[in-house]
Amino acid sequence: MTTDARPIVIVGAGLAGLRTAEELRRAGYPGGLVLVGDEPRLPYDRPPLSKQFVRGETDDTTLRPAEFFTENAIELRLGVPAARVDTAARRVWLSDGSALDYDQLVLATGLRPKRIPGLPDAAGVHVLRRHEDAAALRAETARATRALVVGAGFIGCELTASFRALGLEVVLVEPQPTPLAAALGERVGGLVGRLHREQGVDLRCGVGLDSLRVQDGSARGAILSDGGAVDADLVVIGVGSVPVTEWLADSGIPLAAPAAGGGVLADEVGRTAVPGVWAVGDVAAWRHATGAHRRVEHWTNAGEQAQLLAAALLGAEPPAAARVPYVWSDQYDLKIQVLGTPAAADAVEIVEDDGRKFVAHYHADGVLTAVIGAGRSGQVMKMRARLASATPVGR
Ligand code: FAD
Repeated sequence: MTTDARPIVIVGAGLAGLRTAEELRRAGYPGGLVLVGDEPRLPYDRPPLSKQFVRGETDDTTLRPAEFFTENAIELRLGVPAARVDTAARRVWLSDGSALDYDQLVLATGLRPKRIPGLPDAAGVHVLRRHEDAAALRAETARATRALVVGAGFIGCELTASFRALGLEVVLVEPQPTPLAAALGERVGGLVGRLHREQGVDLRCGVGLDSLRVQDGSARGAILSDGGAVDADLVVIGVGSVPVTEWLADSGIPLAAPAAGGGVLADEVGRTAVPGVWAVGDVAAWRHATGAHRRVEHWTNAGEQAQLLAAALLGAEPPAAARVPYVWSDQYDLKIQVLGTPAAADAVEIVEDDGRKFVAHYHADGVLTAVIGAGRSGQVMKMRARLASATPVGR
């Protein structure tokens, strides 16, 4: 339980920060709540950015209207990054020189896209994380004809599908043998690659970006690691993201090593080793049942963690239901769904495949670990209870 009249300060006004504030209020927390965000806009949803927003089908992805924050007495400090924290004094300094004293501090600063070292700054080269990135991309799709997408992870694959829907030619380059190999493994990644090729994408796996071709300050294409040349007037770099933790470097708050994925180390309810400091969402490396700390960079996780954290922070009982991790990705007309936790070493059984839509079961030591489907929502979601109870395969 909180100890004095100081507020709970949440740094990072994205999905995880907002959900934490909401869960604290829902659980009856009556004290002060301050949500600090470096972006100037109200908390917004990121999944539509690579989908409906970039295609011009929606303009607004705001999660809650301004009145919601007034009605729930959540003080917003937007457009000003937190710059430093003194955990002994329980004080956060913001970049405008102001300071906030806190009783409890929740870190929810998310990720920023990885850059490729040495890549020249050129017009037409984009990353995607923030609303402003998506707005720039959307404006550029109006004049571009040929896109090069570097990296076939979730964001690269979704943007590729959106660009095809807008009529752009797309070359999708991925150093791994298939798209989404790190997340789904190569077998299912191959089925996703098939989907993109069927939609006319020039998918090149096993190759990376060697250099950009720039003319008059604008990207004109690239040379790939196999020597191949690609013409493009729009380039997207989608090679992953890193947790935003630089501002915590001298704080004494334990961070995971960059080689281990980085992030703020926390227990299975988000509590760090520093009294009064918590972490949630994409930036948080929570301890999992295996004892290992792992970050999860997905939407459903942010809300579920916020619920667990809020309960623990207020000394309440955590929600009883077993959590089965869930991720979705919309590509073309198909929803790709991942239920459970697929691991690289899992055995993969393709239980259904009509040449386009598919369902795959993952298991380890005879136990179902994950179900992945494309365009097969019913078959995926009906497996939730079995995954929750970790039933051995075949029972
Ligand atoms: P964020 O949403 O990144 O929020 C963190 C906030 O903290 C940001 O506003 C950041 O600017 C701010 N911040 C950083 N540093 C500071 C500081 N020092 N001071 C103050 N504020 C700071 N997941 C799915 O499961 N399915 C999808 O289809 C899907 N699509 C996605 C599409 C895109 C384009 C992106 C980018 C993500 C997608 N995701 C998807 C992932 C999902 O959106 C994230 O898991 C979710 O946004 C995580 O929320 P978060 O609050 O942890 O981080």
